Amino acid sequence: MKFGGSSVADADKIRNVAQRIAAARELGDDVVAVVSARGKTTDGLVQLAHEISDRPDPREMDMLLSTGERISCALVAMALHDLGHQAVSFTGSQAGIFTDSAHTKARIVEIRAERLHDAITEGHIVLVAGFQGMSLDEKNVTTLGRGGSDTTAVALAAAVNADVCEIYTDVTGVFTADPRIVPGAVKLTRISHEEMLEMAAMGSKVLALRSVEFARNYDVPLHVRSSFVLDEGTWITKETPEMEQAIVSGIAHKSDEAKITITGVADQPGVAATIFTVLADALINVDTIIQNMGIDGRADLSFTLPLDELGRAQDALATIQDQLKFSSLTADDQIGKVTLVGAGMKSNPGIAAKMFRVLSENGINILMIDTSTIRITVVIHRDDVARAVQALHDAFALEVQAASRVNV
Ligand code: ASP
Ligand code: MG
Repeated sequence: MKFGGSSVADADKIRNVAQRIAAARELGDDVVAVVSARGKTTDGLVQLAHEISDRPDPREMDMLLSTGERISCALVAMALHDLGHQAVSFTGSQAGIFTDSAHTKARIVEIRAERLHDAITEGHIVLVAGFQGMSLDEKNVTTLGRGGSDTTAVALAAAVNADVCEIYTDVTGVFTADPRIVPGAVKLTRISHEEMLEMAAMGSKVLALRSVEFARNYDVPLHVRSSFVLDEGTWITKETPEMEQAIVSGIAHKSDEAKITITGVADQPGVAATIFTVLADALINVDTIIQNMGIDGRADLSFTLPLDELGRAQDALATIQDQLKFSSLTADDQIGKVTLVGAGMKSNPGIAAKMFRVLSENGINILMIDTSTIRITVVIHRDDVARAVQALHDAFALEVQAASRVNV
């Protein structure tokens, strides 16, 4: 069971979380619960660091950030004691979560769950501080990047071979689209790991991308549900034949993207490699890439990236202008993306045609197109994103599709 920051924001909510955990325990389940830092605690800690230093040392940053989750899990343990349960809280390192040494964005490399198993065997409910571990090499406290408690929960669920990893949050599940944009969006009963991976990668914020990757790789069933109501939420599981009935399951969007276009690059081997190596070295997360057909030995190249990495990308590319002698470098900071996701796309032609027709009927210009077997993404102007999401939700009648799904 994983509880997000808004679920443990104050004393009453912490008691509510303890009750949810106690109820599961009383039904006979062994429970490992992962909790996030309360409310906006992590934001507050980041701000505190920047009040002290412009460039806080990453190791010390992790010492600082890891405290938010420790506070939460100790408090939940106390609330469970008051409900008459045996409960014990652990830091990430006490729970045996080992990571690489990339401070503030560490990856879990190994979990040694003996201590968890022992505590469970002794009859304890185990609370684990989310979003943190210990580096295998240097034995330092590390954190897993923002939203990392989801990853802690899924990784622990895999390590203890849990029946399910329940993600308790302030929404009731995964929706067909962001309900703030599409008021008629509905909760999905089920979605596959693969589809959720595309949704998370393309802008859905319900689950951290890394956690979904973990769930897919280790086949952990996820259940995203509300901390505050008892209803079932959304199950995220391995694809089943029933699930393939949905051609389009959901729509994800991003509004904080940018696009860089480099014109007149030499049309010869090694040029793209040079450009993207420089960007990779600057740790820029390049996304959709398009290179047009070369004319007279010169080609144009465009790609998208997160808006907040635009400045760094421009600086990095400036360093190779002399070497590559490209004609121009232009940037557009008004970019958005809209993505249709659905496992049924694999076997149903015409989805892209319909998507593009709907956009054109709404006067929305497509700047770039990118696809996978179960996703179609269009890069458009940021101001068109909300309209595109609403129009596509209507055109594909996602609320009807979601309702017709078999719940197995
Ligand atoms: N507290 C961390 C954050 O705010 C981790 C998490 O909530 O998952 O990003
Ligand atoms: Mg979160």
